[in-house]
Amino acid sequence: MTVRLEGKPVAEALDRTTKEAIARRGERPPPSLVSVHRGVDSPFQFYLRRQAKAAAALGIVFRDEPLGSGDGPAELIERLRSLDRSPDVHGVLVEHPLPPPYDFLRAIEELRPEKDVDGVGPRNLGRLVAQRPLHVPAVACAAFDIARHYRLPVDGARVAVVGRSETVGRPLALLLSGRPPAGNATVTLVHSQSPDLKGCLADARTIFSCVGRPGLLDRRVVPRGAHVVDVGVSSVPDPDRPGSLRGVGDADAASLDGWAESLTPVPGGVGPVTVAELMASTVRSWQLLTGAADAG
Ligand code: NAP
Repeated sequence: MTVRLEGKPVAEALDRTTKEAIARRGERPPPSLVSVHRGVDSPFQFYLRRQAKAAAALGIVFRDEPLGSGDGPAELIERLRSLDRSPDVHGVLVEHPLPPPYDFLRAIEELRPEKDVDGVGPRNLGRLVAQRPLHVPAVACAAFDIARHYRLPVDGARVAVVGRSETVGRPLALLLSGRPPAGNATVTLVHSQSPDLKGCLADARTIFSCVGRPGLLDRRVVPRGAHVVDVGVSSVPDPDRPGSLRGVGDADAASLDGWAESLTPVPGGVGPVTVAELMASTVRSWQLLTGAADAG
């Protein structure tokens, strides 16, 4: 039987620490998080609802700020400049990827690293490379913390990360390959141009898949007994609810059942932990910006 690695206990453990930190706030105002996005038509709406619900449950003030129909790249930059200046705002999330003509990386640089709580700006990524992380992309942290929580083979092991985007696969590979307390693993970073997916994964004890391609990982490419952390999420038609979509991962769970040692489900695996990581980062930023902690 393949063990199902639920995200819920990992998210609950993170939330407990987050709540305890907020409970110690004394006279300080509560942490606050602002989410900037493209509005009601955006696929980001699903994540927004999850962010709002998680923030409310933890006592984080949450506000969402849709860009207006006339707001272009210059207005986005001005919006982020203003949020960066605001002493009442401790964390800012920006929907990404953003379609042209927006330039996500250019825009996110308007935020000081403390407020870039998803850790996706160049300065936070640079700190990760330098092994002095401040905020690490939440989804990479989530995949890493799941592996740690369930004691998957990482430290001293060969692992593979499939997908090399700047906000998911590559930061995860950095986190896994860093010296302790980071992962201390030997990492193969696989992408769309890698020859022979099966060969690339052959030595991996744990595989982190960050692609967004349903069915990419099945027993033809995953070595028997490997652990799989499925970060990918793709929307596909829901056979049980005609006209609706559902989220699926990169792994073919049916094919891997009884073959992989363990697998995170989609939904219910990395997703809930990612939201908990964002909330934890917001509280860390609030501590830094209100002088209750230093950046190290
Ligand atoms: P992305 O920017 O599209 O990157 C996908 C990566 O997969 C690229 O590096 C691409 O390689 C690689 N790739 C594509 N086809 C491949 C193949 N056949 N074999 C090996 N590698 C292949 O996507 P992203 O933003 O990194 O997101 C990755 C996935 O994570 C998506 O499904 C996204 O929805 C999901 N996600 C989940 C969460 C969560 O909370 N669970 C949060 C964020 C994102 P190239 O670089 O060569 O193009």
